[in-house]
Amino acid sequence: MKVCRACGDGDGKGNCRLPVDETCALESFLPKLVTIVSTNPATAHEVYLELLRNTICVQCNHQLSNGTCKKRQTLECALDRYYPTVIEIVQNVKGEVERRGNVALRRV
Ligand code: SF4
Ligand code: SF4
Repeated sequence: MKVCRACGDGDGKGNCRLPVDETCALESFLPKLVTIVSTNPATAHEVYLELLRNTICVQCNHQLSNGTCKKRQTLECALDRYYPTVIEIVQNVKGEVERRGNVALRRV
């Protein structure tokens, strides 16, 4: 919701306005992006970006065999535009889960 509300392809209220024949790469690949961030220790955005390119973009129909992507070049890919926000959200949630786990352990 945080991303969709800010997204230029949305209506500002969280609803997507992409044409029905278009799919949002962020929506399609969100589980993979969450897995990348949650299974790799807190690291630099450049490292996450490389993981994103090597695990998600290689599976995406929009990336050409030479590694280029027109949607990326024209800033049309929501995943490419907003992955830093998603990384921040996942890291915050992960940190909160770890804090709660540590508090629970201290109570045992
Ligand atoms: S393009 Fe993707 S991120 Fe943007 S509003 Fe639609 S579903 Fe949300
Ligand atoms: S940047 Fe291009 S290849 Fe990567 S997810 Fe977005 S549309 Fe697909």
